[in-house]
Amino acid sequence: MKQPSLPRRIVVAGGGTAGWMTAAALARTLGPVAQVTLVESEQIGTIGVGESTIPPLVAYNRILGIDEADFMRATQATFKLGINFEHWRVPGESYFHSFGGTGKDHWSAGFQHFWMHGQAQGHDAPYGDYCLELQAAQAGRFSHLPDRMNYAYQLDSGLYAKFLRAMAEGDGTTRIEGRIVAVDLYGTSGDIAALRLDGDRRIEGDLFIDCTGFRALLIEGALHAGYDDWTHWLPCDGAVAVQTASERPPVPYTRAIAHDAGWQWRIPLQHRQGNGIVYCSAFMTPDAALQMLLDSVEGETLVQPNPIRFRTGARRRQWHRNCVAVGLSGGFMEPLESTSIHLIQRAVLRILRMLPAGAISPRDIAEFNDQQMADMEQIRDFLILHYKATDRRDTPFWRHCASMSVPDSLTHRIELFRETGRIFRKNEELFAENSWVQVMMGQGVTPQSYHPVAAKLRPQELEHLLATLREQVSRTVAALPDHGAYIARYCGAQDVAAA
Ligand code: FAD
Repeated sequence: MKQPSLPRRIVVAGGGTAGWMTAAALARTLGPVAQVTLVESEQIGTIGVGESTIPPLVAYNRILGIDEADFMRATQATFKLGINFEHWRVPGESYFHSFGGTGKDHWSAGFQHFWMHGQAQGHDAPYGDYCLELQAAQAGRFSHLPDRMNYAYQLDSGLYAKFLRAMAEGDGTTRIEGRIVAVDLYGTSGDIAALRLDGDRRIEGDLFIDCTGFRALLIEGALHAGYDDWTHWLPCDGAVAVQTASERPPVPYTRAIAHDAGWQWRIPLQHRQGNGIVYCSAFMTPDAALQMLLDSVEGETLVQPNPIRFRTGARRRQWHRNCVAVGLSGGFMEPLESTSIHLIQRAVLRILRMLPAGAISPRDIAEFNDQQMADMEQIRDFLILHYKATDRRDTPFWRHCASMSVPDSLTHRIELFRETGRIFRKNEELFAENSWVQVMMGQGVTPQSYHPVAAKLRPQELEHLLATLREQVSRTVAALPDHGAYIARYCGAQDVAAA
């Protein structure tokens, strides 16, 4: 057997969240076996958003040996238990997409079937009463409850990149400040040979990771990997972000507030709040979006508003030749369910799992691309659900969303749920049954029937089951500390705020 000869020189182009997450993981995992070099341009800067995350980041940090309290202190992070969706089904109504499970599933049928049977028998407690994360979020409480409470983080994206940079440099990553002005290809293979930087510098490498954000300088600019445009399904194409001073203690959840032509986010951090508006430019002008944002934020604005344009979709080949697109260069599906940092994490872990032992195998490339695209398509469908399954008809934007055609894969899921109350998680799909159930029901997709096994329970058994589950949730939540107080004790970052 041949001794593996890894790509010795790995060059990461770009130093946003994607670039530093990649460099930190590669340097920590590969150590001196491979030399990691990261090129970034302070003058160009980063996109400056991306502050709400989902639970797999907790595991990612553990894999990298990151101490959670240090990480949260350094990034002014708060805990996140889910997202509160406001005005999505109809104006004035809200629902919660929480992390974790609801109630107790039976192997043959999810808890929603038992809950629906309960409803039919006159037990009218809302579905959310059976979910620990949801009730804790709404009560503003949090504590670590291993194996019982699923959570993620709300963090400062600038501080996150800084934190990862320190870690990556500590593990031997070389950072080069400079502007990439050209990409040199080998004449024979068409692979990338080197990046050309301003000042007549040249950075050679064996494997290149394109983390240059929407510019996609390597994967598209040099290698023309192609882009699948999904704007006909995910029509929002503009955003404005602004940071404000906190007016109240941070809640352990992100808010997604629908408006006439898109939605707004509110992400509470320890030291400030992140706010932004996402809109569809066919139905709202950038000026109107900015005005709507500024009129609705609470607290003093701390920075100039940051306008961003994007095109939803996916890079057709995320790994092409000796270049892998990670982060926004690989595609973007809008921030509604905070999935982009997760896709970075998935790509980085896949690169590490499929790291070539010498020459790059086209089979590794094909496997990587299949897996990454499957993730993106599943997330895409979940996001479209929020727009498509709405009873809103009050503005041209919502009428457009309600009448647009959607992928067959999503139509199947919606109709299956509507007919039977069933949801099936596909393979390693990110969003599990409980996510789909919460968003389906929250958006007004009501099942017409439920699994017969639920009706097997005798009335007293059903009542006992539902009452016990509800009681467990409310007792646990009542014993949890206040979220703000818990953060102050566990990872309070006042000194960082003052720095
Ligand atoms: P960038 O941050 O744009 O970084 C690109 C890097 O490349 C920079 O360092 C830049 O200097 C460098 N670069 C570019 N060109 C050159 C050049 N010529 N020479 C040298 N360097 C160069 N994700 C979430 O998970 N949660 C969220 O809540 C969330 N909210 C979002 C809201 C909006 C409106 C948008 C648009 C995105 C959001 N995202 C969110 C996505 C998230 O922001 C990104 O996935 C994440 O920040 C990674 O970005 P990036 O590193 O790929 O790109």
